Order: sequence, then C-alpha cells, then structure tokens
Amino acid sequence: AALREGYEHFDPRAYLRNNYLPPRADFSSEEFVVPWKLRCLAETFASGEIRGRTLIDVGSGPTIYQLLSACDHFEEIVATDYLAVNREELGRWARGEPGAFDWSPFIQHVCKIEGRGEPWQDKERRLRQRLRRILPIDVHRPEPLGAPLRPPADALLSAFCLEAVSPDRAAFVRALAHVGNLLRPGGHALLLGALGESFYLAGPARLPVVPLEESDVREALAAAGFALRELRSYAMPPALRTGVDDVDGVFFAHAQK
Ligand code: SAH
Repeated sequence: AALREGYEHFDPRAYLRNNYLPPRADFSSEEFVVPWKLRCLAETFASGEIRGRTLIDVGSGPTIYQLLSACDHFEEIVATDYLAVNREELGRWARGEPGAFDWSPFIQHVCKIEGRGEPWQDKERRLRQRLRRILPIDVHRPEPLGAPLRPPADALLSAFCLEAVSPDRAAFVRALAHVGNLLRPGGHALLLGALGESFYLAGPARLPVVPLEESDVREALAAAGFALRELRSYAMPPALRTGVDDVDGVFFAHAQK
C-alpha cells in the first residue's frame, strides 16, 4: 500500500531528467551508466539467438532505450506500465508528438555500437512501427496483465522495475514468477536492475527499493524458474552518485525460462 501511494506522486519528466540526461546519459565514454546498459543489450541481441514474434517489456516507465536493440529481432514489442502517466509519455513518443522526450542521442549511440551503419532514423521508425501495444500491468498479481498473454511472449525484458516495486526479496521473487507467466517455456528473459539501492526520487515521489546483491538476483531467478545464462554488474562511479537515489551499481541478467 505504501508503494502504491508513493507511485501516485511519480513524475515521469523528473524521472527522465534524473536518469536519462547527463551526467548519467553521457555518450562520450563507455564508463557512464547509460552506455553500459545499452552495450549489455546490444551485445546480447547481437548473438541472434533471442528473437521471435513478441517481446514484452515489463514496467517500461516513460523510457524506450531498453527496446532499441530488441526491436530488430521481434515483430511486435509490447510495452507495459502500472501508471497511466508513464503509458501516456510513451504514447507521445510512439506517435512522434511534440513534447515527447528526445531519445535521438540514445538511438544514435545504439546504431553506432551495433556497427551496421544503419541510419538512426530507420531504427526509430522500426521501433515506432513495432511498438503497437502499451498496456497497464501490475507485477504483484499472478496474472500481471489481468489475463494471459496469448500467445505468450517469446522474450521478456524488464529494467529497473521489479526491485523498485517490491517491499522485500520475497516479493521480488514472487513478482519475477508472475512476469514469468507471460513468457513461453524456453523464452529468454533479460533483466536490468539496481544493486544496493534503498530509494530513488521522481519529483515529489520518494520510492522505496529492495536493496539487492548479485547473489539475490541469482537466487531469485532460480526460485522463479529461470536458468541463468549470464550475469554482469557495473559499479556506479562517484561522479554519477547525484543524490537522485542511493544506487551502488547495476546488474544485467540473461536467463531462460
Ligand atoms: N523501465 C524504466 C522505468 C523503471 S521505473 C527504466 O528502465 O528506467 C519503475 C517503473 O515501475 C515505473 O515506471 C512504475 O510506474 C512501474 N511500476 C510501479 N508499480 C508497478 C507495479 N505494481 N507493476 C508494474 N510496474 C510498476
């Protein structure tokens, strides 16, 4: 209930400013956190192993950076969020409306690291075409979308959501199992998330986060029925500890249901 109340004050623009503008979104060096996240995703999708009809992104928030490498490998991307304000922010970008957040530096950077010489506008157009559904979701329900996804997703992505909506590690494991219900057996799951974080800010909202260690991520994935393929982590450099949260680092996990 406290978490739900906290999210009522979540300000998408403040969240975007805190995490997706400099200093965190600085593309001049791979030492910064945003380029690190984009590289994890670009390298994982580059194998060509993760592909199919549908990819579902859980707790998309107001962001699309996490879909930039994914969108080349799926016919449809389903974005989801608990909050209408975030779904509206995403819709503005998907429709190319004025006032939408400018993701073009992210798109340009991903095209650069993917190294295929693709014009960034082509990737932008492809993601907009494939992002056809932006659905409400609640990961605390065994059926997070209110009904099963039919057919189930071929891949699942979730970035900075599950630990940011779970009061403790047990709730994190349950949430992971719930979102696993949206994925077909054998389907790939990619998780990005915060390590050692106890809160983050989004305007007037101060959201509690369950602090995780790498071992918690490993154990949670196993308990929720996933086989771990790869786990990487990033230590937040002092210059990026800006007071918008108390995050120690970031993990990236690739697992299979
Ligand atoms: N994926 C984005 C946003 C993460 S912020 C990124 O990578 O930055 C966490 C998100 O979880 C917010 O958008 C918030 O609205 C969403 N959220 C809050 N409660 C939720 C719930 N019960 N189920 C699913 N998502 C929830």
